Amino acid sequence: MTKAKEKPRLGLYSLTSCSGDILEITNLEEDLLKLLDLVEVVDLNVAMPATGMSPDIALVEGAVTQAGEAGFLRGLRKKVKYLVAIGTCACTGGVVARGPKKRKGWLRDVYPETGEGFISGFPRPVSDVVPVDFSIPGCPIEKGYLMHCLGYLLRGVVPEVPNYPLCMECKMKGNECLLRYRGLPCLGPVTRAGCGARQPSVGRPCDGCFGAYEDANREALTEIFRQIGLGEDEIKKRFDLFWERG
Ligand code: SF4
Ligand code: SF4
Repeated sequence: MTKAKEKPRLGLYSLTSCSGDILEITNLEEDLLKLLDLVEVVDLNVAMPATGMSPDIALVEGAVTQAGEAGFLRGLRKKVKYLVAIGTCACTGGVVARGPKKRKGWLRDVYPETGEGFISGFPRPVSDVVPVDFSIPGCPIEKGYLMHCLGYLLRGVVPEVPNYPLCMECKMKGNECLLRYRGLPCLGPVTRAGCGARQPSVGRPCDGCFGAYEDANREALTEIFRQIGLGEDEIKKRFDLFWERG
């Protein structure tokens, strides 16, 4: 009798986060069964005890805010073939990495009595600590894009990153442009495609969670935002939600 071929081993890890990306994976529905047919899940640190086996592919969500998380990542990096950052917090620090200079004031406002003792470090992307083979942004990740990327990684190929704006996907869906026809401050023209135009497809302007593609022309979009009547503060806020680091 021929021995069954071993499946690639997959580990799913949650750092400081809302666990929204792992939740998206558990919500894959029929695709989850297909995925479980192709891989063996050896770690899912939010939902099952570790098996002790090392994964071939590690999907890591969340920002790094604790020394223990950084140490964990360094150990993980040594064991895996592919380390993939999933979700915008893991890719860039996410919304929690906003306003480094205002952080102390925010901590005092939100935790007036205990803020001083707050030991969490400023949120950092996974790539600040260890080399990352691939990043799958999104807040949360888009299931279709995740499956597309995993399909490549399971064949031993790192997928290409879409280097064109979200507007392309939006047009392909036949959406009416919210920026042009409704004067809404959509960040699609400077945001990397990949989510399938999730928000514009339901009438909401894109907030830019996939980050900028190469050569995105922020200045040109800033000028368009002025033309549709946004003030300088509003424009800054639009860009700052996912992009502010200074
Ligand atoms: S709605 Fe937004 S994403 Fe869609 S085409 Fe217009 S600017 Fe681009
Ligand atoms: S529409 Fe924009 S904010 Fe919404 S998921 Fe896509 S990239 Fe992120």
